[in-house]
Amino acid sequence: MTIIGIVGPSLDNIPNDSKLIEKLKGEVWSICHDWAPEAQFASGGATGIDEWTKQYAVDEGHSFKEFKPSHEHWDATRKDRSGNLICPTPDFCYGFKARNMALAGYVGKLYCITFNIEDLEWTRAFHPVVCYHCLRRTPKEMAAHITHQASGGCWTLHYAEDLDKQVELIEVTDW
Ligand SMILES: [Zn+2]
Repeated sequence: MTIIGIVGPSLDNIPNDSKLIEKLKGEVWSICHDWAPEAQFASGGATGIDEWTKQYAVDEGHSFKEFKPSHEHWDATRKDRSGNLICPTPDFCYGFKARNMALAGYVGKLYCITFNIEDLEWTRAFHPVVCYHCLRRTPKEMAAHITHQASGGCWTLHYAEDLDKQVELIEVTDW
């Protein structure tokens, strides 16, 4: 049985545009549909792509595992400014980083679903940010090809790639 992970931007990082949201959901549905029923699904427990993956998997009766962070910090094993551990029991907690690593290790294949930001404007509600996780992995002369919104999903995608997992980046365009 293959374990399929699906991650991507949370609602904070997606413009409030119903056409785009429908298209992103459509990508989630179609990946799930292609793999079901011979797959289990997993995601990261955030809003947006994570939440839609959970919705599909649970509604359709598939096995689903959620990797929710126990702390809203990138690395909860660190100390805060006053020198106290962010989490008093760091071996048993997940900040975003540990959560992402656990999810990448759990899945057989990881998809990151994101969208093209070339025509999007910076607004109060939505900040387009070109994916610095992918830029870091791309030779300078190819940098212009990175045109999608950044999210922790791409961090997890690259971590999974380093673990020799199958990975696929899906960039929604034209909505
Ligand atoms: Zn990326």
